[in-house]
Amino acid sequence: MGMPLRRKVLVTGASGQDGYYLIDLLQKQGCIVHAQSRRQTHPNSHLSGTYWHVGDPTDGDFLDSLIAGVMPDEIYNLAAISRPVLSWGLPRETAEVNAFLPQQICELLLKHKPGCRFFQASSSEIFGDSADRVQNEQTPCVPKSPYGAAKLYAHRIIGAYRTQYGLHASTGILFNHESPQRPLSFVSQKIAYAAAAISLGLSHTPETDERGRPILRDGKIALGDLSVRRDFGFAGDYVEAMRLIVQHHAADDYVIGTGEDHSIEEFCNEAFNLVGRKWTDHVNVDPGLLRKVDSHYTRANAAKIRSVLNWQPKVGFRELVSIMVKAQIDSIQSNVPLSGEPDNGRRSVEC
Ligand code: NDP
Repeated sequence: MGMPLRRKVLVTGASGQDGYYLIDLLQKQGCIVHAQSRRQTHPNSHLSGTYWHVGDPTDGDFLDSLIAGVMPDEIYNLAAISRPVLSWGLPRETAEVNAFLPQQICELLLKHKPGCRFFQASSSEIFGDSADRVQNEQTPCVPKSPYGAAKLYAHRIIGAYRTQYGLHASTGILFNHESPQRPLSFVSQKIAYAAAAISLGLSHTPETDERGRPILRDGKIALGDLSVRRDFGFAGDYVEAMRLIVQHHAADDYVIGTGEDHSIEEFCNEAFNLVGRKWTDHVNVDPGLLRKVDSHYTRANAAKIRSVLNWQPKVGFRELVSIMVKAQIDSIQSNVPLSGEPDNGRRSVEC
């Protein structure tokens, strides 16, 4: 039996960056898209043609009636406390959302629709400070935060459900991926925003950082450790990987990354170069922003997904930075924030 022509797909945690790109991709591929958020009004509300379901996915009754009501052919779980640094302040909630929610989805699939395919957004943070220079599916996991530990629980339990019950449940071990949809609280977006603001002649910005200070003050941006190296990819490429993983006949775990690593300093250099400035004139290192717990170094070995699913990222580092800076220039010039569009064109279904 072939797959039904129009797949019914449920995306949980759909209001964030990846939700934006995944919903767009699913719609282009002809899927009927159901999306969940806890918020009536959220940044992706404007994506038309999507059935939004408002409720808390960690509420067992809500989740049960959501899955039983939609009876999806595929579920993508993106919901998470998605910043390791925040997970320290919300350890219990992090466990509930990042660890137990994916397990509960497996349970409900067994109850309502065991044939549904399931994708879980896993994270390179499960590796922690890995001794391996490059991380693949076999790299030992030594998570260093409640975020990483909870994601590792979900990662392992999904593997266990796959083996125990034959669920088509897969994980993507996602390395950092960025885009114009990244919130300004992330360093990549802060840098892109600062470079864009400088290029437009601003030296003080209305947007503030996590400490409530203008991101650009007297023409300078305050950042933490510039030597941190990350494998930075483009979110649009990563949601394509998610879809390929779900479409493959056999469920499995895959590392998703570019295989290149770049430092925060290189990100600054690239962003400020694009607007004809020297990053050293505009970046201050603030010891108050140095973190003890972040993984210092990530670099993916994505050979498995390349060979099994023929996935490769299309957007390289330079293009990624350029896309983000240009989007910020447009946003500042038009005075329209990159996310947070008004709640329109939306069909909301309460469960
Ligand atoms: P976002 O932070 O943009 O979106 C996360 C989603 O989770 C939001 O839609 C939010 O929905 C939901 N959420 C947040 N807190 C809770 C909570 N307490 N209870 C229920 N839902 C909650 O993340 P991204 O789109 O960037 O990432 C998608 C997934 O990929 C996440 O699971 C993340 O951990 C993972 N990942 C992402 C990486 C990246 O670089 N982007 C790297 C590695 C993994 P709402 O508030 O509307 O309910």
